Amino acid sequence: MSMETTAVHAGREDCTALGVHVPPLDQSSTYPLPSVEAGGASYERMATGGRPTAGDSLVYQRLWNPNVDRFERALASLEGAEAGVAFASGMAAITACLLATVAAGRPHVVALRPLYGGTDHLLATGLVGTSVTWATADEVASAIRPETGLVVVETPANPSLDLVDLRAVVAAAGDVPVLVDNTFATPILQQPLQLGAALSVHSATKFLGGHGDLLGGIVATNEEWAVRLRQVRALTGGLLAPTSAYQLHRGLQTLPVRVRAQQDTAQVVASWLDRQYGVARVAYPGLPGGDPDGLVGTQMAGPGSILAIILDGGYAAAAAFAEACQLITHAVSLGGVDTLIQHAAALTHRPVAPEARPNAGLLRLSIGLEHPADLIADLDRALRAARAATPATAPVTTPGAGASAPFRQLASSTH
Ligand SMILES: *Cc1c(COP(=O)(O)O)cnc(C)c1O
Repeated sequence: MSMETTAVHAGREDCTALGVHVPPLDQSSTYPLPSVEAGGASYERMATGGRPTAGDSLVYQRLWNPNVDRFERALASLEGAEAGVAFASGMAAITACLLATVAAGRPHVVALRPLYGGTDHLLATGLVGTSVTWATADEVASAIRPETGLVVVETPANPSLDLVDLRAVVAAAGDVPVLVDNTFATPILQQPLQLGAALSVHSATKFLGGHGDLLGGIVATNEEWAVRLRQVRALTGGLLAPTSAYQLHRGLQTLPVRVRAQQDTAQVVASWLDRQYGVARVAYPGLPGGDPDGLVGTQMAGPGSILAIILDGGYAAAAAFAEACQLITHAVSLGGVDTLIQHAAALTHRPVAPEARPNAGLLRLSIGLEHPADLIADLDRALRAARAATPATAPVTTPGAGASAPFRQLASSTH
């Protein structure tokens, strides 16, 4: 079935038999038990990562929730995955993958920068017992050790919008499972499991929800990994709330339409920005030179709707630009129906080590569903403010300059 049809119908297969048109919302924290013996058996099945069988009591919301299950099945269908396992946030999903890797006795991670700032910070601190080797795509094979349990990569990368060749990373990783953060691409534009990745992770907070009103995360994977991840979830409790799962399941229905419409507008806005005085560079895979390896059309169905601009005037110009936007909201997050702008070095990538921080003049834009002309009018106003704030001297281009000293780290385990 096509993506559009799957998005509308997946996870709703039993609605007709239930006599309802939309899935009912189940907010039970606990469930009646048929008997002590049967209840105990159900508990054990789900606490060890299994699915409930017919007639099982669901026992307790930390073990199972029908709305979470529906959202998981729908997202798995879109990714072409056997299973989905949902969490309280994108970071909870990534944490669960790392904990499952540590539990399997292979705590070393090879990670490709740039990554989302929170993921970078989690890996750099070694908080959940991993150690990390930072590598480029070319260095993955040589960075792998016997105790390497995971290769972590993000494409399009945040916030550089560089595309990483996933087939090449999977080949270099050999037997080591590859985790792809697929948040920016969504399953509509990219399906990492079809390219050989073991895990496709989303901050569901972003495009999957799409309306800026919830936090969530999900991992699309095979059933073997799903068992391990459900066990981590049952033990550590990083659960997606049923109401959020309900909203996410509904949000998926419009995902293909939203992703394509936002992408069309992003292409118009990126092309306009690329011609403006005061903009040193626009990073967007849909612009000439933005996709040097030719991955749009092969790995990724389109360039997406996130772009970054680097302003000539460095930090001062970027700050003035972000603060002058009126229609566009100055806020972190992305992938929603409204356009957002944020300064990566000062905000999402603040925890990242100085040498890996984004350019001080870089702003990340997430294009929403507004009309492009209205967005361009707002950006034009912001550019005037940026030019007025541009220092007369040479532009500031040191990474992170203007942002504060490095985030205090819990611990450091970079090898
Ligand atoms: C936001 C984000 C995350 C973290 O997700 P939360 O839902 O905020 O925990 C991870 N990866 C990427 C690419 C993100 O944009």
